[in-house]
Amino acid sequence: MIKLSDVTDKIALYIDPDSGQKHLRTTSRHSSGSLFHKFCAGENVPCPTYLSLQIDHHRHIHLQPEFLQYLNHSCDPNVYVDVTNHEIICLRDIDANEEVTFFYPSTEWDMEQVFYCRCRSANCLGEIKGAMYLNRNLLPRYKFTPHIMEKFHEEVSKDRLVNNPDTN
Ligand SMILES: [Zn+2]
Repeated sequence: MIKLSDVTDKIALYIDPDSGQKHLRTTSRHSSGSLFHKFCAGENVPCPTYLSLQIDHHRHIHLQPEFLQYLNHSCDPNVYVDVTNHEIICLRDIDANEEVTFFYPSTEWDMEQVFYCRCRSANCLGEIKGAMYLNRNLLPRYKFTPHIMEKFHEEVSKDRLVNNPDTN
């Protein structure tokens, strides 16, 4: 891993020279529940891309500041993207020099680009395609944004209608 730059006094940008992939690392300790960084909505993108973040049912944006595009996915994430308050929040204590990651399906319902995760966490899910495709048994393990939770609830209501058409 090669350090490219300090992007803030607490966050540095690194590159893996073999893959060329960039990622963010902490340069100091962050405590659980604390603010990792604020973000604002950059340009709206009409269709999701591998760089966009879904902040509502039909709204996909690029994150600002720009270095936040290097927040990679992990199946064992240490931050959560709060799309209501535009804050990235630590899900647990993060030591200095840890890679900072979030769970892509926590904001993305149906991802444009499917990818095969190699986060090496014990519970790695492998193929990541968005929340729509997650095994529903996994839901309690992760924190999802309100627009994703609404989609899950819509599905449950639809199932009830199909299975019990006469109730109400
Ligand atoms: Zn994984």
